[in-house]
Amino acid sequence: MSNDVDVALARPATLCAFCPKMCRSACPVAEAEKRETVTPWSKMSLVHLGRTGQVPLSSTGAQKALEACTGCGACVEQCAHGNPVSEALFAARSLAETPRSKLYAEQFRKTGDVKGRDHARVVDGLEKNRDASVAYFPGCARAGHDGRVAIDKDLRALERAFGHRIPVTEVSLGAQCCGYPVYIDGHVDLVEENLLKMAQVFGGHEVVVTPDPGCAYMFTTVRNALVGRSRGARSFPQVLPLVEALGARSERFEGAARDVVVRYHDPCYLARRGRSFDAPRRLLQAATGRPPLEFVRHHDDADCAGGGGGYPVSNKEGAREMARRRASPDSQGEESADVVVTACPSARRNFERAGLRARDIVDVILGEL
Ligand code: SF4
Ligand code: SF4
Repeated sequence: MSNDVDVALARPATLCAFCPKMCRSACPVAEAEKRETVTPWSKMSLVHLGRTGQVPLSSTGAQKALEACTGCGACVEQCAHGNPVSEALFAARSLAETPRSKLYAEQFRKTGDVKGRDHARVVDGLEKNRDASVAYFPGCARAGHDGRVAIDKDLRALERAFGHRIPVTEVSLGAQCCGYPVYIDGHVDLVEENLLKMAQVFGGHEVVVTPDPGCAYMFTTVRNALVGRSRGARSFPQVLPLVEALGARSERFEGAARDVVVRYHDPCYLARRGRSFDAPRRLLQAATGRPPLEFVRHHDDADCAGGGGGYPVSNKEGAREMARRRASPDSQGEESADVVVTACPSARRNFERAGLRARDIVDVILGEL
């Protein structure tokens, strides 16, 4: 085991191993899978046993348990120590390397994308300007999955909000992703290297706007923790989730979807981790003429929709069950909505994978439901 990883895991794993499971019921993965072996305490106790040489983390069972985390952060809210469970589980995944994580790392090393895609082709023909003060970064969820139609919508929303066109950041093979897909597999060296490359790409901008709250988290919280304020940090722009940039200009979207009744799902990396609660609600109120309906659990108490941490890849059915539980009538409350809306491409896609109707907040504020 690498000494750095062992040191990083020692405190969080030991805290959990000797804890009376205070966060037992917080984990939406454990609730969806209905398995005691994937509660935060069990997963972290496994890490403790692994790092003290009592069980091999490379066994299939251990790999499965370490992958059973979406990074939602709900357990941390229940923990008296604020123990960073998902960060520890992600780091421990590097000790349990699966064939999939090895392949992803290899492709990321070569192309800057875990699936070897070239994002530049998706944004081909769109304006780029390295000196523009504000620029748009699509991220893998948009460039790799949602595609050009969704990117064009984001850019139209930005144009309406700012009153002029916003260019796209340069993306190219080797520097095109925030690094989240390798971060969750514990490849910290690749993340750090990638953040330094992205600092070059973003160098001329003051603000970079991204539709993916996971990208914003990587470029702020993770960058501050890994790269720090010394190397490459001075030239890094402020990175804002798209809803924050649009929410500051919400009056530009007034009446776009008048009388549509929406229920808003707080994505974990935007809400619980990013503390962004008001901007999406302000936008939805402006567009529909009324405040969005809330889930029974909302804001920083919202249940995860199952789209993060690589969980839809490692456990397709578990991730779909999480989306179904989130959208169930018990979770939604009494007043019925026309549509569930969210501000995270991964959450929206996981609802869709489970056969549920969910729309991106940009669809609502452009009146394109
Ligand atoms: S995360 Fe906190 S509350 Fe949960 S098992 Fe670990 S130490 Fe206990
Ligand atoms: S971060 Fe979320 S999914 Fe991961 S162990 Fe904690 S509660 Fe479970």
